[in-house]
Amino acid sequence: MAEILPGVHQVEGVDPSPDFSTHVYLLKDKGASWTLVDTGLPGTHPATLAYLAKIKVEPTAVKKILLTHLHRDHTGSLRALAEKTRARTFAHWVEAAYIANDPKYDGPGTPPAEPFTVDETLKDGDSVDAAGGLVAYHTPGHTPGHVAYYQVERKLLFSGDLFFGEGAGVALTPPDFTQHSPTAQISARRMSQLSVESLLTYHGGPVLQRGGQAIRALVERLR
Ligand SMILES: [Zn+2]
Repeated sequence: MAEILPGVHQVEGVDPSPDFSTHVYLLKDKGASWTLVDTGLPGTHPATLAYLAKIKVEPTAVKKILLTHLHRDHTGSLRALAEKTRARTFAHWVEAAYIANDPKYDGPGTPPAEPFTVDETLKDGDSVDAAGGLVAYHTPGHTPGHVAYYQVERKLLFSGDLFFGEGAGVALTPPDFTQHSPTAQISARRMSQLSVESLLTYHGGPVLQRGGQAIRALVERLR
């Protein structure tokens, strides 16, 4: 079982290869419901459903799916999981347009596999009633409408592709996959001001302890 922190699961079996980890997070809400953060590559939904079955959670107990950004490795199984769970889906308002393929995303990284219209659009600072309360932070750079989700009480930061796990610390996601690295650097600087214990990266990592220190070390290196 991959419950990496109390109520925070890293879904098993969604990695495309041993060298390329993709961390789909499943969060226990207060009460009986659950929340997914990102959805994995196309075709990985059976692994997520198998994981839910393994921990004895009905798919329909997943009430929300939160997206960090448009890239295919995050949105690939969105439609399949939204259908199986009937969860409400959330993304930043800029990203929501790209996920709907209206207009088509022409930046680096792989665009969504198919258009999808999310149920709710977020803006910077919005609260989401999930996992005991999350705040959506607009953290552009990797993509225009990238968001990170912060759990204030427990100091958890689900950072999508703003950061890349690298050894015991983090780096910015490489420029080849990023729309505008200087903007990502500014977003990293902003996140370095939060009090973060666990930094839940999507690729590599996560950094479960002293995540804020890892962010600050990166910000210092980038100066
Ligand atoms: Zn990405």
